[in-house]
Amino acid sequence: MNFSGIYGHDKVKEYLSKAFELNRVPSAYLFLGENGIGKSSVVFKFAQLLNCETHSICHVCDNCRLFDSGKHPDFHLVKRNGQFIRIAQIQELISRLSLKSAYASKRVVLIQEADRLNQESANSFLKILEEPPLDTLMVLTASEENMLLETILSRCQKVSFSPLSREVLKRIITERFAVNDSEMDFVINYSRGRIRKDFIDKVAVLNTMRRQVLIMLCSLILENMVAHTIQIEQWVKKDLHEYFLEFTAIWLKDFIYLKMENPGQMTNRDMIDEIDISAIHADQEQLNQAFGLVIETELAVKANAGKVLALESLIIQLKQLFEGEMVL
Ligand SMILES: [Zn+2]
Repeated sequence: MNFSGIYGHDKVKEYLSKAFELNRVPSAYLFLGENGIGKSSVVFKFAQLLNCETHSICHVCDNCRLFDSGKHPDFHLVKRNGQFIRIAQIQELISRLSLKSAYASKRVVLIQEADRLNQESANSFLKILEEPPLDTLMVLTASEENMLLETILSRCQKVSFSPLSREVLKRIITERFAVNDSEMDFVINYSRGRIRKDFIDKVAVLNTMRRQVLIMLCSLILENMVAHTIQIEQWVKKDLHEYFLEFTAIWLKDFIYLKMENPGQMTNRDMIDEIDISAIHADQEQLNQAFGLVIETELAVKANAGKVLALESLIIQLKQLFEGEMVL
């Protein structure tokens, strides 16, 4: 197997293997798919396959051993420094590519999150794509195609990655992370086909938090806001505000599925026995509006609105919305 250790992505693996066997590897690929789906892992394996002296990833030849150690001098990884990939990083890459390769028959450049190239660095990188160095493969990974320059897109062969199945997610999580059985469904349901390392690292905290968000949403019209406000401030302090917004949005969606008597679609279906539908004081229309308010708040926070204020104002608006017309 050319891609042993890479779970899922059978079509991608087959496509790349074929390109390799037929000696039709282009000078540049764009790997498109969500962050955490496994694009970079495929790049590492493919780079190894391209350079293995037995053409099969033998783990014995010099090139394989360098790849296995993670220190192959002809594998160049460029990833964002802060918010963006900076021009200095692209200039450094250009100067490295001007030298001859040390061991590899095919050098590989991985530009991770190429949608984070700023305009300056994208233009500079474009020059490499326009005149690709000999025996060098560029692979760009990105989650948002429309963030890339058309001139870059047109020079890359596109390879799309599909979400991982539940079985594959479970296999990867079991092998690489310490997630107990009771938390496994929670992690997988929130994965949406990819591995969310930050989420898994905080799984116990987040599992408690989603319960607290459920209680908050169900008690909005009953309680005064002080307790909620204190709770929100603590979450923001711990940098958990994005999860608060995610849990709020997903609970609201789940309430809609519950009202539609379609619990199979719920993300929190592992908690179905703990939800009291009579505690949800809103009808479908109100829940839809509430969901819209969460999305607006998400955008405001992304645009640098004060987090505590934005989240508190969301909770107040949800309370007012649910109090508008109580439908049990
Ligand atoms: Zn080898």
